[in-house]
This record gives sequence, C-alpha cells and structure tokens, in this order.
Amino acid sequence: MDVKIYEYDAVIVGAGLAGLAAAKELTEAGKKTAVITKLHPLRSHSGAAQGGINAALGKDDSTELHEFDTVKGSDYLADQDCVELMCSKAPETIRWAERMGAVFSRDEEGDIAIRPFGGQSKPRACYAKDRTGLTLLQTIYEQADRAGIEVFDEWYCSDLIYKDGKVSGIVAYDIKNSEPAIFNAKVTMFATGGHGRAYRFNSNAHANTGDSLSIVARHGLPLEDMEFVQFHPSGLGGSGVLISEAARGEGGRLFNSEGERFMTKYAPNAMELASRDVVSRAIMEEVRQGKGVGKDGQSVNIDLTHLDPQIILTKLPELRELAIAFQGQDMLKEPIHISATAHYSMGGIPTNINCQVRKSPTEMVEGFYAAGECSCVSVHGANRLGANSVLEALLFGRHAGENMIKALDEGIELRPAKVADADTMLEEMKKLKTSNGIERVSALREELQIGMTKNAGVFRSKESLDEQIALIDSLLVRFDSIRIDDKSKIFNTDLQEALELGHMLEFSKFIVDGALNREESRGGHFREDFPTRDDKKFLKHTYAYMDKAFNITSEWGEVVLGKFEPKERTY
Ligand SMILES: Cc1cc2nc3c(=O)[nH]c(=O)nc-3n(C[C@H](O)[C@H](O)[C@H](O)COP(=O)(O)OP(=O)(O)OC[C@H]3O[C@@H](n4cnc5c(N)ncnc54)[C@H](O)[C@@H]3O)c2cc1C
Repeated sequence: MDVKIYEYDAVIVGAGLAGLAAAKELTEAGKKTAVITKLHPLRSHSGAAQGGINAALGKDDSTELHEFDTVKGSDYLADQDCVELMCSKAPETIRWAERMGAVFSRDEEGDIAIRPFGGQSKPRACYAKDRTGLTLLQTIYEQADRAGIEVFDEWYCSDLIYKDGKVSGIVAYDIKNSEPAIFNAKVTMFATGGHGRAYRFNSNAHANTGDSLSIVARHGLPLEDMEFVQFHPSGLGGSGVLISEAARGEGGRLFNSEGERFMTKYAPNAMELASRDVVSRAIMEEVRQGKGVGKDGQSVNIDLTHLDPQIILTKLPELRELAIAFQGQDMLKEPIHISATAHYSMGGIPTNINCQVRKSPTEMVEGFYAAGECSCVSVHGANRLGANSVLEALLFGRHAGENMIKALDEGIELRPAKVADADTMLEEMKKLKTSNGIERVSALREELQIGMTKNAGVFRSKESLDEQIALIDSLLVRFDSIRIDDKSKIFNTDLQEALELGHMLEFSKFIVDGALNREESRGGHFREDFPTRDDKKFLKHTYAYMDKAFNITSEWGEVVLGKFEPKERTY
C-alpha cells in the first residue's frame, strides 16, 4: 500500500485548546507545523467547557491562594512546582486570551467577572456566560488559522514512531478515504484530551476515548496516576450530560428525597462548594441510603428556584436549556435531577514541567511532548479543582509550544521515517476488517462501560476492582474476535470505533490496576476497604507500564512538594 511520508518541524495530535495553543506559537515562530485531529478543531471537547477558567484576578485574591487551593484540592498529590507555574501565569493567560479576542463576561465596574467554584477560597473563575470553552476555542482557532497552521482534520492517529528513546512522528490515516500517511517530525506532541468514555455514566464527548494513552503504552512507555478519575457531582440524571459547577457556584442547593440539604452532614462549611470528590461521594452515599430521587432513585435534586431568574437567564442559559432538552425540567420553576458523572482524567501521559514526556520517573523521551487533559504534568494530583483544566490546557499547551520551539532552535534533528513505520497500523486495520469473529464493538464497549461505572467508580474495593480486572481481561480476549460489517474505505466509522475500543480496554486496565495498588483513599480515588489517606505509603505518583500480553507492572515516583505541607482536608 502507498504510504505518503510528510515532513514537518512539529506535528501535534489534537486540536482542542492545548493543541491549538501550541500550534499557534510554533507557526508564529516560523516552524512548519501540522495538526492532526479526528474531529474538526471546533468540535473538540474543549468547546463543551461551560463554567470557567481560573485566575487570581479578584481584589482580595492572590496567586498564592490559588496555589494553595489547587494543592489542597489535589489532596497534596500535585507537583507543587508545576502548580506554582500554572497559578502564577494564570492572570497573564487570561489577558493573552482576551487580547486575541476572547470576550469574557464583565462585572458592574467593567472588569472581567469572576464566579465562585468548588474548593476555592475566593471567587476566581473567569467566564463567558456558560460558554467559556467555546468562546476560547473559537478565538484560538481563529488566531491559529490566521497564523497559518496546517490542519489535517478527520485524520485518525493510530501509532507513534518511537525508537531508542526518541519519537520521530506519528502514523495516521485519513478517515475520509482510509489512506495512510506518516507524519515525520523533529518534535511531536500529543494533546488528545480526556478519556471519560470508558464509563457508562459520563459527561464526555464521543471522541474522548483516550486513544493516545494506549498508543504510548504499547511502546512500553509509562502512564501516570491513571487511578484518579474525577466524578463530577452534577451530571443530568440518566444521561450524565454535564450541568456545570457554575450551577452550584451561582447558589444551587442540593436536596435528597426527604427534602434534607444533606451537604450539612458532609461539608458543613463549604456545603455545595466543597471540592468535587467530596460532593460526588455525598450524593452517591445519599443514593445508597435510599434517599435518591428520580424514577430509578439514582439522583438527587439541585434547586436553583430561589435565585433571581435573571441570574439563570443571563449566567446559566445553556444549562437551563440542557436540563429542559434532556429531562424536561426547567430550573427556573423546579429542581433538577443530577448524579455523579465520570468527568475528568487527572492521570495520563507523564511529563516534566516543560511538557516533555517521561520514559520513567526520571528519564525523558527525546522530541516528545504532551499537554492538556491527556497529559499528567501533574497540577491536579488526585483531584482537579473546577475551572483549572481549561487553564491547564491553554497555559501548558502554549508552554509546550514554546519548549518545542526551543528544542527546534537548539537544533534537534529529523530522524527520517520509513514506510515500514506504518506497518503496525496497517496490520491492525487489516485484521479488524478481515476478521470473521462473532464479537461486536458496541456490546463489548457497553460491558466495559457498565463495569467501570459499577466497579471502578465513585466507590471502589479490592473485590470490585478484582472483578473489573477479570472483566477487562476477558473483554481483551474477546476483542480478538471482533467483527465489523463495513469493509469499505470511505468514512468507515465501524473501523474507527473498533480501534477506539481497543484503546479503551487497554487504558481502562491501567485505571483499575492503579486503583487496586493504591490501598488508600485520596481525592477522586475512594477505597471502601481503605477509607483514609496514607501519606507514609502513598504520597507517591503511580507509573505503570504494559507488556505485549496486557500485563501491567508499576513503580512509584516522587511527588514534588513545596511550601504547602500535606494536611488533612476539611471543608
Ligand atoms: C462537559 C464538560 C465541561 C467542562 N467544563 C470545564 C470548565 O468549565 N472549566 C474547566 O477548566 N474545564 C472544564 N472541562 C474540562 C476541559 O474542558 C478539558 O479538560 C479541556 O478542554 C481539554 O482540552 P484538550 O485540548 O486537552 O483536549 P480536547 O479539547 O478534548 O481536544 C482533544 C483533541 O484531540 C483530538 N484527538 C483525540 N484522539 C485523536 C486521535 N486518535 N487522532 C487524531 N486526533 C485525536 C480530537 O480530535 C480533539 O481535537 C469540561 C469538560 C467537559 C467534558
């Protein structure tokens, strides 16, 4: 088969906020850059971010307070040097976005408006109504386009070219006609977003299937802290579609079926604005005690009817429409049913503070970078604070771009790729297309998702995690006899979904294995059999590696501590 080889200075996979921020910097610096994305850039999940982006802009706020909240929210697992970088550069990032043309909502004095979010000591989420991500994504896409970025949209990246500690590009195919190509580059970056689709009940876009995680892991490279998945307290009951934290930020109150404002029991001071892990567990505990609402009793109520209707109409218009569209409930008139939904992945591809990917806790891969939700830099540790991840994607995306420019200026060389570098991808595609097995993608995916929500969700135990490992192992075997109906080359979504399922099965095993090994409870990871945090043994990052038979081994890496000593979290 003909395999085209393109040559670039830089190739970036992903066109969300992280990928576009890097691409804009590189292109403006005159570096020949290609952006590969399986979606049109404006359909990236960044566009779904509703609530806001954090920066200490308030009069009585400071970057140090922002740092403290982030580290505390992370249950002390975040690397404090990276947190310091992020929080200190946050105000400048907002101004950067604003100068590019992002229109933020304003307060009465005409300053950028800020709203309270969970786990924050001061209001600091800047926003554009409840369409913050879309506003930022449109702005940065427009400016990156103006700078002349080259986008290969509807291209699917399926492999990495990695040899002797160096990455020299990626392998992808054009979804429109299945034609393969190699993107040979001096520097390569992954910015492929989150992987919440591994869960049945989730807030993520269909495309959030975590492809790059197993692409990296298949080459024997590690994934970091995969056990930490964030469950957001307010997914619409039944679907998991997100009702942003802005709903609680603007004053939403949570009630169980007995009309009790139950957060008084779990976080008497912060109440609904305790951090997400705390509120999610509180909701699920109420449901477990039979105090849920809705047809299946699996939700609780969020009530906003006491608010001035103007607040809802001007600050939360999209949220109101979502609740009407998905469950026929108008938040102006009645409480809305919500439940904890898989939302964000704290773990991912490990990088150092310069976004360079790690080969082990202490060694780097040459020419390889990652930023945004697919990466683990780690600024969120065991739990991310609301409105910190759009910030992370923009800021570290740009930072990755700057570091890639530096590597190029220092003379990093192109290692020429060979047509044979595409063999693994081509064989994988051929096998899926020609297999006459009996297994179906949708059935296997559903079993995985139901199992992940049940066994590796808000509450976990050795028993449930063992069950999930056994399930994933059996699904991996069955995946070998998968059959797809569409054998064509044009827009073969059957093939793409099969490839994505392969990735989901593999990285899910990292989540479960990490959760089994971490015999403590920290942030988003809660073990019923080990309900307390154990800093002596587990104030460590997990680095996990997969072999060809999908066995996972792991080692611990040091957490970068700093001015904030680990303390017990109280709310
Ligand atoms: C509903 C929702 C609301 C949110 N609200 C907020 C909020 O208010 N504040 C906040 O801080 N955070 C929020 N978040 C989180 C935040 O939006 C994301 O973490 C962040 O935008 C991720 O940006 P990214 O650039 O890393 O990835 P994304 O924007 O997800 O982009 C990923 C890109 O990778 C591409 N890609 C993936 N796999 C492949 C492949 N195999 N081949 C080619 N291309 C590929 C996709 O096409 C896409 O362009 C929210 C998330 C959700 C789901």
